[in-house]
Amino acid sequence: MSIGGGELKAFMSAQNNAIVNAEQGDHDRCGWFHPAAAHRATAAPTSGTAWRLVLLGAPGVGKGTQADLLNQRLDACHLSTGDLFRAASKQKESDQSPAMRSAMEHMRRGELVPDSTVWEMVRERTNSIRCSSGFVLDGFPRTLGQAEALKQLMESEKIPLNAVVNYELPLANIVARLSGRRTCEKCKAVYHVTGNPPKIEGVCDRCAGKLFQREDDRPESITVRMAVYERSTAPLIEFYKALGVLVSIPAIGSPEDIYARTIETLKARA
Ligand SMILES: [Zn+2]
Repeated sequence: MSIGGGELKAFMSAQNNAIVNAEQGDHDRCGWFHPAAAHRATAAPTSGTAWRLVLLGAPGVGKGTQADLLNQRLDACHLSTGDLFRAASKQKESDQSPAMRSAMEHMRRGELVPDSTVWEMVRERTNSIRCSSGFVLDGFPRTLGQAEALKQLMESEKIPLNAVVNYELPLANIVARLSGRRTCEKCKAVYHVTGNPPKIEGVCDRCAGKLFQREDDRPESITVRMAVYERSTAPLIEFYKALGVLVSIPAIGSPEDIYARTIETLKARA
């Protein structure tokens, strides 16, 4: 996982939202942000109903949406490393764990957060791995080293990983999804020219701000991002395939279609 300086700004500006989100109860955030209060995590891991999942998928396949749906409906503990960083940014420095403090220092300096630090942040939340209703990991692991570390941790805790769900979508579809995105220059609301168009073309429904296409969402940038993603994720896919836990799901259709396909496939394996 790597977090650049540009993203730090986004995290900081999302700080108020993070506070609201983190205070929406411990249901969806459970042990990840409040390790000491992870009461649900103290129960022994149950078999059968609890799903322990890792989600993989390129930007634009809708992985974040699936993570939210799975998390809500399976009543699992959800860890998104992005959320983790956002939560850290609103904590007082004295309340932050050593790994969290180190990560924030790297981000403040505009540096990438090293793998070992990201792993340390996850390890500090081992209670959530024990979450009796299962967990959904989103954004972690990102590297082979992290995947191996996670495997060791789960083995030492005697907790099985049920499946690694890999959301797949042809590059052409990803380009179509991402290149149709438009962002409001004032309030940063996100629209899609066909999927979620504003009432008036090029104008934000919320604040009447002008909509623009982010540099990242231009087809040339998307192709480059995808190549980087494929290169970094290919070893992870091979790793999980060799362990026999990789499940590939076509990310075509509506979020509900993709969700139904995911559950059906997971149930068929159980
Ligand atoms: Zn706006």
